[in-house]
Amino acid sequence: MFLIACPHCGPRSQAEFVYERAEEAVAYPDGTPQETLAALYTRANPRDFAWELWRHAYGCRGWIRMRRHRTTHEIAEIEAVGARL
Ligand SMILES: [Zn+2]
Repeated sequence: MFLIACPHCGPRSQAEFVYERAEEAVAYPDGTPQETLAALYTRANPRDFAWELWRHAYGCRGWIRMRRHRTTHEIAEIEAVGARL
């Protein structure tokens, strides 16, 4: 568990947020089923920072974009996305 500084609400428990997805695009090859399976299940899992999309589902319901370390959960940057629902 870690804290996320929501741009609208301030620091809140990670339990109030829902992880939506990483911003990295996964390229799916137009090839054999084996190539597609390899692209899906044998990807790199780098241990560094990545941009992710989260939603403050149990708070302001706003969407946030943050750059989080995949191993330590350190948050380097965080910003609001669009309008709150
Ligand atoms: Zn919030």
